[in-house]
Amino acid sequence: MNKLLLAFLSTGVITASINAQSIQRCSTTEYEHFLEETDPNFTYNREQADLAVEEWLKNHPNEKAGTIITIPVVVHVVYNTSQQNISDKQVYSGIDVLNRDYSRQNLDTGNTASAFKPDAADTEIRFCVAHRDPNGAWTNGITRTQTSTSSFNTNDAVKSNGTGGKTGWDRNKYLNIWVCNLGSGLLGYATPPGASASSDGVVCGYKYFGDIADTDGTFILSAPYNRGRTATHEVGHWLNLRHIWGDSNCGSDLVNDTPTQQTSNFGCPNFPHITCSNGPNGDMYNNYMDYSDDGCMNIFTVGQGARMQACLNTTRSSLKTSDGCEGAVNSLKEEMKTITNFSIFPNPASENIQVQVELGIENEISLEIIDITGKRVFQKSYSKLQQLSDNISISNLESGIYMIKVNSGTYHQIKKLIIN
Ligand SMILES: [Zn+2]
Repeated sequence: MNKLLLAFLSTGVITASINAQSIQRCSTTEYEHFLEETDPNFTYNREQADLAVEEWLKNHPNEKAGTIITIPVVVHVVYNTSQQNISDKQVYSGIDVLNRDYSRQNLDTGNTASAFKPDAADTEIRFCVAHRDPNGAWTNGITRTQTSTSSFNTNDAVKSNGTGGKTGWDRNKYLNIWVCNLGSGLLGYATPPGASASSDGVVCGYKYFGDIADTDGTFILSAPYNRGRTATHEVGHWLNLRHIWGDSNCGSDLVNDTPTQQTSNFGCPNFPHITCSNGPNGDMYNNYMDYSDDGCMNIFTVGQGARMQACLNTTRSSLKTSDGCEGAVNSLKEEMKTITNFSIFPNPASENIQVQVELGIENEISLEIIDITGKRVFQKSYSKLQQLSDNISISNLESGIYMIKVNSGTYHQIKKLIIN
């Protein structure tokens, strides 16, 4: 016990707790040392995961896989206070951030320093909200667990029903993200490949997940870490990325197209920030795997994308065939770019529903109602318009939970419809 405790303390996690004001951007590296001490299989499995990545990269020298891999995500909200019980809306915004950042559809690509833009990548990795739970039942991709634990740390208590948290779903099918109150100013941590199944996933502080205000308009996100990039960074670790400075002085992150840099950057440095003789362009402080402010992070490189693809084609390849998102959509907020409003009322309903849709532009619209088994039970198409208001009879449908989906071009949006 003492040995373990000592090993954990020596990692520096405690440094942050001495000063409650300080921020610990990420504890993945420290957590990794903790796993080395506590999990007898971790070191070996970690090495094997790295070897598998190297082998895959050797056999796929073109780096771009050309195939999009979509990862089903479940978010476990573990809360002690009502504020920690973040809204569905905030949860989904967190997944939207992942989709934008990993596809380089983030709105701040223009802030990437010009010298780094040629290295920027669409990683060809996407995230979908789980719509099928491990038992095959419909889910909104969110679990909610009330806890008496006022704050969690990196001891993984949040990951088990027995320790005040929530046991994760099958890691071979889902990326588990726990959102909770992390103490010691910690924003998040992740398991790299090689960790045990029961600990596998990403943990994020509730003030750092997502990028929008709560349903009632309360904005609980904590600047300058209020753009959801904690999850972007931690999922990078989960997919076998290292910190861009390689966690040592001018260290290596095992990626060729990221510059060697001395250490982590905070805030947002001025270009060029030269260290480790990495001129003329200097540190890639815009990289998601640095420690810069959320508003300063905006790029994964082609090499990082390839390394994550390699992980998804080796250690984490079972996710490629997961059915966790069947019937699901990739991203909710992305869709809102063109579907600016989608409402149904009443809901719950029994006879008729009034459907209203507003688009950013004029386009064709179709509506679908899908039952809990994924079967389409209603479909209607409309010619080009910008606003739709239609009254639909649902009296022929059995009572139960349905999804109503509006499609406009490649965009779609889904709402739950209860018929009784
Ligand atoms: Zn990190």
